[in-house]
Amino acid sequence: MATVLITGANRGLGLGLAQLYAKDGDKVHACCRNPDSASDLKAIEGDVVIHALDVEDPKSIAALKAAIGDEPIDILLNVAGYYGKYIVSEPGGMQDFGDTDYDEWEKINRINVIGPMRMAEAFADNVAASGQKKLITLSSILGSIGGNDVGKMYPYRASKAGANAIMRSMGLDLKEKGITALPMHPGWVRTDMGGPTADIDTETSVAGMKKVIAGLKPDDAGRFIAYDGSELPW
Ligand code: NDP
Repeated sequence: MATVLITGANRGLGLGLAQLYAKDGDKVHACCRNPDSASDLKAIEGDVVIHALDVEDPKSIAALKAAIGDEPIDILLNVAGYYGKYIVSEPGGMQDFGDTDYDEWEKINRINVIGPMRMAEAFADNVAASGQKKLITLSSILGSIGGNDVGKMYPYRASKAGANAIMRSMGLDLKEKGITALPMHPGWVRTDMGGPTADIDTETSVAGMKKVIAGLKPDDAGRFIAYDGSELPW
């Protein structure tokens, strides 16, 4: 059985992944900002340890590292993410040119880029000490520069392009530790972030991601792939 660490595990894709890994008998370190109000997470049956974690806060990441110590982590899943004050389907949600909220952009970067980077630096040795040695950050097709033929969404796109950049480098740099690191696109999913008109449901996305992650080989390090295993343009 694997040990899996998931950020943003109280709702959306993080919750769906926690439910699925726990159901299959894996040990889950499920991290969220407010464990007290994480009722869906607390309802999961199985080997689930809930931790408080705010990925914007270095002290919070250090406290998590202290709690977990040297325990091997087979799969580190950076799922916590932030689109911005308004989701795509809301007024202001397209993050148009001329409408940029720079304070929001800094927050988006702290959560989507710096958070996964800090988590990786804090826990790479735990991943390297495990059997599977996999380190995944949920990115987005919106972070693809080659695949952008729509425009808009400047802060979110830039943050996920940043997430792609750090995961590509980790794919190369952490190979020497035996770690397979990469960014993964979960599909456009009907969560709070994806909104009600998105393409697929959470169950489809998390089942696809789990299957793809289970099949990853060391040579997959640094690839940009989707929940259905397809390769995406950078
Ligand atoms: P949701 O908005 O539904 O959930 C976001 C999660 O991230 C919540 O658990 C939230 O916790 C957590 N989070 C936000 N900020 C922080 C923080 N500072 N510290 C810790 N946790 C935090 O998003 P999804 O589940 O849809 O998305 C998950 C990931 O997948 C994200 O990285 C997203 O960018 C990516 N993605 C999603 C797509 C979609 O269509 N849904 C498409 C492409 C990529 P809290 O409840 O405390 O706010």
